[in-house]
Amino acid sequence: MTPNSGSFVFDIHEIGRKAHPLKVLLVEPQKSRKYHTPYPPLALLKLATYHERKGDFVKLENGISENGFEPDTIYITSLFTYAWEPVHEAIRFYSNRYKKARVIVGGVYASLCPDHLKERFGDRIEICGGVVPELDALLPAYWLIPEWKTSILFSSRGCIRKCPFCSVPQLEPKFEARKSIKHLIYPGHRKVVFWDNNILVSPYWRNIFSELEESGLKVDFNQGLDARLLTEETVLRLKRLKAPIVRLAYDTKGVKESVKKGIGLLKNTGISGRRIVVYCLFNYLDTPTDFVERMKDLLSWGVVSYPMRYQALEPGPKDSYISPNWTKEQLE
Ligand code: SF4
Repeated sequence: MTPNSGSFVFDIHEIGRKAHPLKVLLVEPQKSRKYHTPYPPLALLKLATYHERKGDFVKLENGISENGFEPDTIYITSLFTYAWEPVHEAIRFYSNRYKKARVIVGGVYASLCPDHLKERFGDRIEICGGVVPELDALLPAYWLIPEWKTSILFSSRGCIRKCPFCSVPQLEPKFEARKSIKHLIYPGHRKVVFWDNNILVSPYWRNIFSELEESGLKVDFNQGLDARLLTEETVLRLKRLKAPIVRLAYDTKGVKESVKKGIGLLKNTGISGRRIVVYCLFNYLDTPTDFVERMKDLLSWGVVSYPMRYQALEPGPKDSYISPNWTKEQLE
């Protein structure tokens, strides 16, 4: 993805051209109910690899902390837009504490809402919007978090679909795929989690599946597989992987037949309904009746449903958006 235009553009090459080793602080906002993720900050770990290769000194931090490390460059990451407050807290603290340091903010919220950040912090911060290709190809610095045993990776970016409720077309407008993911699996890890938005679109999915099969590692296509792209071949290849859970999405009634057919293919291959989890969007253009019908469909098809409440892309408290077709009471 191309970075944001304007004076807030972050340029990794410019950072890398410094003559002396940098002291780089990588900050994940304080994990809490307001900033919840079970995963480590992948982009920060890739930045760690990038800077370590340049000979820079790197420190990874969660939340606000003073540790005697005087950085000259600070990266702060962000999650989805409703989790913006802990990001602001981190920016406030670190930009005041280290007044001479560059402060670069990235991640989903920073990419989707640069103006919201700009209004509050102006020129004190730089915003890194979207994906930086040079970083994306790097193995994250898992050695900084030795207790973590799962490799998280993207074999592709973007998606060919343009679902109006989804931020992917904005964050990753172009579909791009890599041929191999072997180099993104960290030695000693026991599992691989894919964050691809639509891996089955990749022209290299067969090769990726072969690499996974050879690795013998557990696999989770965490963002779900596109039911419209399931075929006898894909489900047979899937069956050969150690994928305890297969995730699909049934976000609108428009994909009913594809989801039904995909579930049928999976079950015919011997993947039981208990292992098929289907995300089910609500609180968007649907109505409560429509949502209940989709849930009933999933029940009748014998799979596990996973309701997903639509969240607005604009910053605001989690679960504050209420679709005109729903009421607050219906959503509670
Ligand atoms: S298929 Fe999934 S990733 Fe692609 S645009 Fe739709 S919701 Fe987003």
